[in-house]
Amino acid sequence: MLDVKNVNDSVEDFQVIEMMTQMNHEQLVFCNDKETGLKAIIAIHDTTLGPALGGTRMWNYDCDNDAIIDVLRLSRGMTFKAAITGLSLGGGKAVIIGDSSTQKTEALMRKFGEYVNSLGGKYITAEDVGMSASDMVQVKKETDFVTGIPVEMGGGGDPSPVTAFGVYMGMKASAKHKWGSDDLKAKKILVQGVGHVGENLVKYLTEEGAEVLINDINLANLKRVSELYNCQTIEDNLIYDLDVDIYSPCALGATINDTTIEQFKCEVVAGAANNQLQDEEKHANMLQEKGILYAPDFLINAGGLINVYSEINGYDREKAIAQTRKIYDTTLEIFSKSEEENITTHQAALKLAKERIAQAKN
Ligand code: NAD
Repeated sequence: MLDVKNVNDSVEDFQVIEMMTQMNHEQLVFCNDKETGLKAIIAIHDTTLGPALGGTRMWNYDCDNDAIIDVLRLSRGMTFKAAITGLSLGGGKAVIIGDSSTQKTEALMRKFGEYVNSLGGKYITAEDVGMSASDMVQVKKETDFVTGIPVEMGGGGDPSPVTAFGVYMGMKASAKHKWGSDDLKAKKILVQGVGHVGENLVKYLTEEGAEVLINDINLANLKRVSELYNCQTIEDNLIYDLDVDIYSPCALGATINDTTIEQFKCEVVAGAANNQLQDEEKHANMLQEKGILYAPDFLINAGGLINVYSEINGYDREKAIAQTRKIYDTTLEIFSKSEEENITTHQAALKLAKERIAQAKN
């Protein structure tokens, strides 16, 4: 049977309902529209704490199964992200199958908005990879169940700077736990991926006086960010054995795996990417055995979710930032829980999130 926690597991034995059962999903909606070419899937994982809020990703998946697995895993992650952050939200996510640079049209986005609207508020969307605030403006023409809209339209705009602030808070809490002080000055930090979140994180880190190394496959962006914040670039992909204090994955998921853990010299992992652990249990254990402190991804990258959540009741940036600042305390709480209960930091975070959902159910 497919192991939902292992992103590399075989999908030969592909059974959608069985996967939903294993992961406890409430609903999966398949959308198909011949006229606009829209092919999308909306996954609602759990609505115990509130409506399922999660972004829409537009991606050219190799096959339908990849899209289904992605949306199931991402929506499940949103449930725990909202729960651990203390938001009255459930977990959901959507994927649109296609190339966002060539296949995105206003008609397609509006048709997607119609599908979102048909769920009556059970699912609320926002932007994710391949989407922008301007796409959400098109979606909004068909539904009110959308967040991540531009500031000038009363929304919170791009949530990435707030995500970066939360990651920065989680990283400082990790330093406090590991080295007794949350001061990142002179700490050597590798940031992998200097896109929307990574660049904002580099700004915070360099302002504090950290020694920041950056890596990105987009070499033009890498050069621009390095010149702007005066940091060293690593241009190849031989980054995992670098002698750094902190590794911050801000590009892709699954970069923490058998191969990379073997190479790691860092003492802390704290980054923005979703689903960093290739195998949640195995690789969280391996990090712990090696003495590497792991700040759970869904805990420290919740700033963007906090920001879009704030739009639901009238956007208030200061409130969103204040709530994101609390990621510092929650991260410390999770590290203590992990030590007290002798479980990994990932398990501790998941346990707290599940406890909150169970409490609400009761
Ligand atoms: P982005 O697309 O703006 O940036 C990602 C960067 O990573 C790009 O510059 C890209 O060139 C680079 N990259 C891609 N593959 C790479 C590789 N193999 N090696 C090095 N660099 C590589 O995305 P983003 O919005 O900055 O998000 C970064 C990560 O954080 C994603 O995993 C995303 O899911 C997660 N995340 C983002 C937010 C948010 O608010 N944007 C919130 C939560 C989680």
